[in-house]
Amino acid sequence: MSYAIPPAPIPAVPVAGSADSFPVRRIYCVGRNYAAHAREMGSDPERDPPFFFCKPADAIMPAPQGITADVAYPPQTANYHHEVELVVAIGKRGRNISAEAANEHVWGYAVGFDMTRRDLQFALRDKGRPWELGKAFDQSAPISPIVPVGRSGHPTSGRVWLSVNGTLKQEGDIGDLIWSVAETISHLSRYFELFPGDLIFTGTPEGVGAVVKGDLVSGGIEGLGELSIRIV
Ligand code: MN
Repeated sequence: MSYAIPPAPIPAVPVAGSADSFPVRRIYCVGRNYAAHAREMGSDPERDPPFFFCKPADAIMPAPQGITADVAYPPQTANYHHEVELVVAIGKRGRNISAEAANEHVWGYAVGFDMTRRDLQFALRDKGRPWELGKAFDQSAPISPIVPVGRSGHPTSGRVWLSVNGTLKQEGDIGDLIWSVAETISHLSRYFELFPGDLIFTGTPEGVGAVVKGDLVSGGIEGLGELSIRIV
């Protein structure tokens, strides 16, 4: 097999405590999965079925542990927001997965930022248009090293937080997810066959807000590590 042009590199995320990397196939994201964040986005946090959107795999911006990754302020926005999220890395293929069996499909967990051009997202949302321009842009998915399940277990609670220049902006607990990780995997797998390499950003707690060039954005999840980026 010879390619007409050089193939793009495989996007990959470092594995915590290992020289290995986790190759990324797809990035799925859950919208409005914490009640207080749903309210701040102007919607009623009823337990409607979860909804999903996608980012391209090469939107990931890996930040090895202890390294602050430079993330470029994106074009075409004046309201560039942070969202800190628990990220699930899928390690086993499946569709129509039951919530009871969902943990078997998880390879590991990480901390991710679902960076968002909020002005574009809201303009698209209000017109009933797709969200890609607001959500799926380059470098829109900074991510910490992935912690394998053998080290992390399957966390069902733990503090999730994000600060900008040392000031706490977002704080919650992954135990407050409206749809748990297992339920999210179950729902998503009814619509897409999941494969090893898929990532799921599970939604953000309240307190999202804008960042500007020069800001240091740090976030973490208890037991899973931290992630820091500099907006440049
Ligand atoms: Mn999000």
